[in-house]
Amino acid sequence: MPETYDVIIIGAGVQGASLAFHMAQHGVKATVLEKQFVGAGATGRSSGLVRMHYDTEVDARLAWESFQYFCNWKEMVGGDCGFTRTGFIQIVNPALQDMLKANVTMHQRIGIPTLVITAEDVKRLAPAFSVTDFEFAAYEPESGYAMPSDTTNALLEAARRGGARLLQGCLVTGIVAKNGKITGVETTLGDYYAPIVVNAAGAWAGQINRMVGLDLPYDTWRHDTMFVRRPAEIGPSHPTVIDFPKEMYFRPEGRLTLVGLEDGNPLGESPDSDTDHAKNGFVERAIERICQRIPYMEKGGLHSAHGGYDGITPDQHPLLGTVGPEGFYLDCGHSGTGFKTAPAVGCCMAELILDGASKTVDISALAPGRFSEGRYVKGNYHNIWK
Ligand SMILES: Cc1cc2nc3c(=O)[nH]c(=O)nc-3n(C[C@H](O)[C@H](O)[C@H](O)COP(=O)(O)OP(=O)(O)OC[C@H]3O[C@@H](n4cnc5c(N)ncnc54)[C@H](O)[C@@H]3O)c2cc1C
Repeated sequence: MPETYDVIIIGAGVQGASLAFHMAQHGVKATVLEKQFVGAGATGRSSGLVRMHYDTEVDARLAWESFQYFCNWKEMVGGDCGFTRTGFIQIVNPALQDMLKANVTMHQRIGIPTLVITAEDVKRLAPAFSVTDFEFAAYEPESGYAMPSDTTNALLEAARRGGARLLQGCLVTGIVAKNGKITGVETTLGDYYAPIVVNAAGAWAGQINRMVGLDLPYDTWRHDTMFVRRPAEIGPSHPTVIDFPKEMYFRPEGRLTLVGLEDGNPLGESPDSDTDHAKNGFVERAIERICQRIPYMEKGGLHSAHGGYDGITPDQHPLLGTVGPEGFYLDCGHSGTGFKTAPAVGCCMAELILDGASKTVDISALAPGRFSEGRYVKGNYHNIWK
């Protein structure tokens, strides 16, 4: 007889782990099915930025709720998420500075510690930065980065203490529905029954959606990052930065600096492509940009570079909610920014699944049916990824 579970979550990335954790908080024992190992997808490659600066309220609220977890991890989850406070700076082109100010006002209304600072202030915070191409930035003194694999493992450990189950090396090959209701999944380890199945399969989530006949707009998004060794002239560290003028972000990690680019992230590739190496040309472009912002980086050296795949949607916002057969839920399409929001997304998804609506943050704007209804989530910047 196939085993029967209350809830099956497909994917042991940070999203599946967070949902399993929050389900356990409600006394529901979820089973997480993972085709490879914990953090094998985008999560294991994530840059781990933890900041609240967003141009939509739903994102900022999800990031802010999640921030409470990152800052109080031991008490709220247990184990360690590796949160490191570096301060966060959002740099924008002069054309976007009114939008930046409006966003900071929105963040302050939510309660997020943030303020608008000038380019001279940025120079005081980070003396090695060149600040000639912008006038204003947003500053979040409490923000920084965390360790995605540690975060995910800690969430899963806590979930398992609460009765959750994790099956690794378990590829979901089919989803079974009868009379419009989910009844379970087929996997390489056998069939499992459950009335609720959650698709948290990241870049592979489009494949899972098709297993229930859903053809939602959904793509894969490739993103490369590199670590460079910082020369001593830059000092012991620097803030975490999203840098719109240079279409780049970067953050410190010990004596290294991690760099990612906002442009040149290909869509539509197989998520099973090589991620151990960055694409040709990425390192050269990234080095040029980081040297423009931090000229001393010319004395730095390349440490390593690799890539990863996430799921992306047309408005670069996740699909959160139910669609298709009764009992089928989506927690996917995190579009390159779903690490920092995972603690709150899992909380909201658990509320939605168990109570019919999320109350911690209203995530109804992110419902999977929005595209067929012509609704797109739009902020006052542009889509971050090009
Ligand atoms: C290089 C890179 C840098 C990033 N940097 C940041 C950042 O700084 N800050 C931020 O907030 N976000 C960042 N992101 C985005 C963030 O990492 C992702 O949004 C997040 O990790 C997505 O988590 P997930 O659980 O949805 O997906 P994943 O981590 O991809 O997990 C999905 C899991 O599902 C499994 N799976 C797939 N299909 C099946 C199947 N059929 N059966 C069983 N299991 C299956 C996969 O093996 C995988 O482990 C970055 C992403 C990348 C790629």
